[in-house]
Amino acid sequence: MNQSTPIGVLDDYQPRAGLLDDRVILVTGANRGIGRAVALHAARAGARLILSGRNVAALEKVDDEIRAAGGAEPSLMPLDLLKATIDDYRAAARAVEEAYGRLDGLAHVAGLLGARSTIEHYPPMEWHNVMHVNASAVFLMTQALLPLLQRAEDGSVVLASSSVGRKGRAHWGAYSVSKFAVEGFMQVLADECDGHPRINSLNPGATRTGMRRAAYPAEDPTKLRTPDDIVGGFLYLLGPDSAGVNGRAFDCQPPRR
Ligand code: NDP
Repeated sequence: MNQSTPIGVLDDYQPRAGLLDDRVILVTGANRGIGRAVALHAARAGARLILSGRNVAALEKVDDEIRAAGGAEPSLMPLDLLKATIDDYRAAARAVEEAYGRLDGLAHVAGLLGARSTIEHYPPMEWHNVMHVNASAVFLMTQALLPLLQRAEDGSVVLASSSVGRKGRAHWGAYSVSKFAVEGFMQVLADECDGHPRINSLNPGATRTGMRRAAYPAEDPTKLRTPDDIVGGFLYLLGPDSAGVNGRAFDCQPPRR
């Protein structure tokens, strides 16, 4: 791993049909936004999906969409990342083991924006919640699933990051700091696992979702790429075309001007 490797941009990747055939892939935040798009496109590319989220009714809708499009029958993993205990993560890992025996891909997409405030005025409980969902839950879930990822021939972990997780910016508070933690977690685990599984971070860039709307309420959303437009990078890192790529930071889109 070379820490000075520049950030790679994956905006022109075109997944081919059957790219993820038979890969078992778990997506967090699969009920809406970017996570939903990653799940739908991964299923279309042949993956068997485990859909994780806390909103079961919304997960069921994504499940229906995948089946209606002819994708393999998904599994649902209801989990509130703020409340889940270590026992919940262990039970989730056991359920994956019983159903599939291994895990080929883990996309941590769920995230919490939190307050847009200075550190001076940041609400302490909200700081805790954002750090927990965005960073500690990534550790807890990855740790529980690591043995199953190591059983896969080409296990791959993809962590949703952010530009403010690579360069701090005023008023991004716990969200920014938690994404720095995500980048640090990626580098430490990549160095420890030496590609088995491999682990990389991926910044979606400005994307038309509820989180972006909450962060920039005055922005015209029609000027932004949609989740469907930017998922190629996730599919690249979850699939065989990125074999051997480990410990690197990527962007889904070129920097905005
Ligand atoms: P959304 O706000 O649209 O979706 C966030 C997802 O995270 C939802 O599925 C939400 O579930 C889930 N989530 C939040 N809290 C919890 C929790 N406690 N337990 C389980 N699930 C939870 O965000 P995006 O789709 O825009 O963002 C996806 C990822 O991409 C995030 O990690 C974000 O930081 C990152 N990102 C997004 C950018 C953008 O412009 N959109 C730019 C850069 C990074 P629920 O519906 O239950 O709330």
